[in-house]
Amino acid sequence: MKAFTYERAASPEAAAQAAAQHPGAKFIAGGTNLLDLMKLQVETPVHLVDINRIGLDRIEDLPGGGLRIGTMVRNSDLAADPRVRQRYPVLSRALLAGASAQLRNKATTGGNLLQRTRCYYFYDTSKPCNKRTPGSGCSAIGGFNRIHAIVGASDQCIAVHPSDMAVAMRALDAQVETVSPQGQRRVIPIADFHRLPGSTPNVETELQPGDFITAVSLPPPPPGVQLYRKVRDRASYAFALVSVAAIVDAQGGTVRNARLAFGGLAHKPWRVPQAEQALANVPAAPQSYDAAASAVLAGARGQGHNDFKIPLLRRVLAGVLGEATRT
Ligand SMILES: Cc1cc2nc3c(=O)[nH]c(=O)nc-3n(C[C@H](O)[C@H](O)[C@H](O)COP(=O)(O)OP(=O)(O)OC[C@H]3O[C@@H](n4cnc5c(N)ncnc54)[C@H](O)[C@@H]3O)c2cc1C
Ligand code: SF4
Repeated sequence: MKAFTYERAASPEAAAQAAAQHPGAKFIAGGTNLLDLMKLQVETPVHLVDINRIGLDRIEDLPGGGLRIGTMVRNSDLAADPRVRQRYPVLSRALLAGASAQLRNKATTGGNLLQRTRCYYFYDTSKPCNKRTPGSGCSAIGGFNRIHAIVGASDQCIAVHPSDMAVAMRALDAQVETVSPQGQRRVIPIADFHRLPGSTPNVETELQPGDFITAVSLPPPPPGVQLYRKVRDRASYAFALVSVAAIVDAQGGTVRNARLAFGGLAHKPWRVPQAEQALANVPAAPQSYDAAASAVLAGARGQGHNDFKIPLLRRVLAGVLGEATRT
């Protein structure tokens, strides 16, 4: 680990200002991703701003039935909150599908959104990686790419976003609230928060240097059954190969509408409007589910070792929609 300086921030504004004063500084929340990356020297911040005494650890009701989740709310507390379990079970299930109980006790809402990819080459500093060292190349293209993207990738990077929580939040149309070092507040729809790799895979979100996440807000829950299904190599303690967050409003054998977000497919939580349109007022039947899967997979391309994700996505989606529409 490289030497760094350290300070503890007392407010969101002070944290943002402290980070801006030390170019290359990082906030440390639960530390469950950042510290691992520092030990491997993938991340080498010159200065750490500890945000653990900042507050922002509450879940508040919003008018109309939504919720605001402070950035320091731990993943385990968020999953267990009765309001989340009742109104947003897809989020609770996604959180509980992630990591381990010990990690969820430390991991925070803001840190989970900003955790970095699990591409093996990103963590191996002896290998070229455009995300870690821009311009060095991508070892996963033509390398071992079993966990990599099948949609939204570029010729610079084929990594996927690893967060389960963010996939559920994408289906729920969450909004990310931030404050800048100048005190300017922004609200960023989660759809726009994470970026696709393009030619700058090292730039992963819409945040500017020093921007601090204060909260994530959820609009009132949409009607329908909420499910999260995650396919992975082990029953626990493993990242998604493919995951689906589904909110499905169906009655009397007809799907009225559905919201679908996917993990393990792309550089960001993935949502395809055409797939949801394919599920508007159609029979709750396998051919409808297959049409939705075809829309998700339009333009999908395997990289060799991950070709299996294409038929897997089709089967997982059919299973989730079948379960959601079973009366
Ligand atoms: C063995 C293992 C298995 C895991 N399995 C899963 C899994 O299956 N699914 C899953 O989703 N996750 C999984 N995780 C990842 C884990 O969920 C993340 O490490 C965790 O959510 C990150 O939160 P944190 O608070 O510890 O973030 P930190 O490590 O403290 O920070 C992560 C990043 O976020 C930044 N940051 C934190 N808070 C803010 C803020 N308020 N504003 C701006 N920037 C901020 C930090 O500067 C840093 O860059 C796993 C982790 C491990 C180690
Ligand atoms: S896929 Fe992205 S993160 Fe992985 S080696 Fe290529 S550039 Fe790096």
